[in-house]
Amino acid sequence: MRIVIVGGVAAGMSTAARARRLDESAEIIVLERDAFVSFANCGLPYHIGEVIEDRDRLLLQTPESLRASLNLDVRTGTEVVAIDAQARRVTARVQATGEEQELSYDRLVLCPGAVPVVPPLPGIEDPRIHVLRRMEDMDAIKAQVDAVDDHGAPQVRHAVVIGGGYIGLEMAENLRHRGREVSLVELADQLMPPLDRELTSPMEAHLRANGVDLHLGVGASSFAPTDDDRLAVTLADGTQIVTDLVLLAAGVRPNTALAAAAGVELGDRGGIAVDEHMRTNLADVYAAGDAVEVRHTVLPGPWLIPLAGPANRQGRVVADNLCGRDTTFGTVQGTGIVKVFDLVAGGVGANQRQLEAAGIPFERVQLHPSGHAGYYPGTAAMHLKVLFAPDTGRLLGAGVVGFDGVDKRLDVLATALSAGMTVYDLETLELGYAPPFGSAKDPVNMAGFIGANLLRGDVALWYADRFDEDTAGARILDVRGFEEFAAGHLPGAENLPLDQLRAALDGFDRAQPVRLYCAVGFRSYLAYRILVQHGFVDVATLAGGMHSYLAATELQADQDLLPREPVVSYAEERTATPVDAAR
Ligand SMILES: Cc1cc2nc3c(=O)[nH]c(=O)nc-3n(C[C@H](O)[C@H](O)[C@H](O)COP(=O)(O)OP(=O)(O)OC[C@H]3O[C@@H](n4cnc5c(N)ncnc54)[C@H](O)[C@@H]3O)c2cc1C
Repeated sequence: MRIVIVGGVAAGMSTAARARRLDESAEIIVLERDAFVSFANCGLPYHIGEVIEDRDRLLLQTPESLRASLNLDVRTGTEVVAIDAQARRVTARVQATGEEQELSYDRLVLCPGAVPVVPPLPGIEDPRIHVLRRMEDMDAIKAQVDAVDDHGAPQVRHAVVIGGGYIGLEMAENLRHRGREVSLVELADQLMPPLDRELTSPMEAHLRANGVDLHLGVGASSFAPTDDDRLAVTLADGTQIVTDLVLLAAGVRPNTALAAAAGVELGDRGGIAVDEHMRTNLADVYAAGDAVEVRHTVLPGPWLIPLAGPANRQGRVVADNLCGRDTTFGTVQGTGIVKVFDLVAGGVGANQRQLEAAGIPFERVQLHPSGHAGYYPGTAAMHLKVLFAPDTGRLLGAGVVGFDGVDKRLDVLATALSAGMTVYDLETLELGYAPPFGSAKDPVNMAGFIGANLLRGDVALWYADRFDEDTAGARILDVRGFEEFAAGHLPGAENLPLDQLRAALDGFDRAQPVRLYCAVGFRSYLAYRILVQHGFVDVATLAGGMHSYLAATELQADQDLLPREPVVSYAEERTATPVDAAR
């Protein structure tokens, strides 16, 4: 059996390597148009930033090493330019010579990846404007960043990153790491669209604190050389940024031209349509990786989720099926994580906006536990948001942003979501604990406690992003201390510290709705329990407290909130609210 694979990086090489492990006799040919196979594309930003100093560390394999270890026939610099599915043949062009070769196959696997979106803006062809997908892109960017003038000064003093997704964020960090001034331009009014707004505003504050000049809610509209040979980037709002290098990280689209020309069916989102065995509509033609559409674990319809994990998993599934096994590919839940300077942000499953758009009912909890025991150095509060089904409590999505222990919580939640677990399961998960690593009640357990309390009716929540609806006709009680209240409070709030609440109850109208809040939601939960047990009929506590309110309303700049607290004052909040000790 001859297996021909188009594309030799994540999905393509996973397919090839597993196919060889399962079938020693198959002839396996990998055709890759670029000069490199099986390279670490996720590491590219970090070599530009010189965090990964040795370029060779990104080159995981060579055609020679793959021949030696796996007996693969890997041909780099070879682009597949046509597929004749009827004749079971591809036409491959050798880049160096232009020579075209015909190659027959028994099974064909399409793993051509994705291509960066390059908007057709005036001046976009300037050589100082780059995308980052290939080793060659990285080399070109790094050469420019490394270049110095006759006086030894860097030629790139300033860079503009267009796009606030993970590649844009990683590049912003790495360019700052190289000491360059950085402006980041994002068309949406927030960074990292897979995360909800209240999780991204701490990232924005952190980027600004690290010297990144952020332009949110506005796109680039043109590029033009300046008189002194720099590059002027004009934004849609008229802002002009004079720079030396532009990185376009405005998203990717599936690379489907070759497949479509051969009659491979595309899906509604423009990716290659595959069945659960990763088969296309053409006989013996499979596809995997960024080019294919997938089913989402939570959301309806086809999705494009260009991530390395799914690409590798799909490659394994294709190989199994090529080699006579009956393996299916399930769903993709989009588990993603990014480091932005000291901050880490990640998400899994659906976010609130996506659930709302899909009409899927949900409940949500927001909390701000510390990454590990508060008395052990080096921790800070994180923002943790968990979305779940109101009837069963089944997890639908989660987002985490913070400093320590974010990756661990994300992965526990990702595992729980893929296992179909509920908030009741999160309550009982037994997770590793010692002071440097967590708390006896881990943040994931805490999310479970709050979620399960909500579903059992032991607490009712109100939400910052529904401020007007949720507080209509209600008395808003801030149960923090006087000093905290004086430092900034919600519009219309009265201050009644928790320890004075019981004594003050006599003067209250128990029929009037009461909306409680504190710093992160714990003291107001205690107040909630007091009020409902004293006959108050309509009480709710603000999910995530002031912390979540400030994060959710960061862009709305509420006039009545005086003065505004910095969103990133996690350490102060933690001291003010000993969540860990109190629960
Ligand atoms: C800078 C960067 C950082 C990233 N960081 C992360 C991360 O941290 N986490 C994460 O999960 N994902 C990350 N990704 C995404 C991840 O790399 C991709 O999801 C994954 O590589 C997709 O695998 P693939 O095999 O589908 O495509 P690719 O890895 O892009 O491979 C496709 C290959 O096919 C070749 N090809 C295309 N057409 C032809 C043709 N006609 N003939 C021959 N060869 C062809 C291309 O040259 C390419 O080498 C990152 C991507 C980039 C660019």
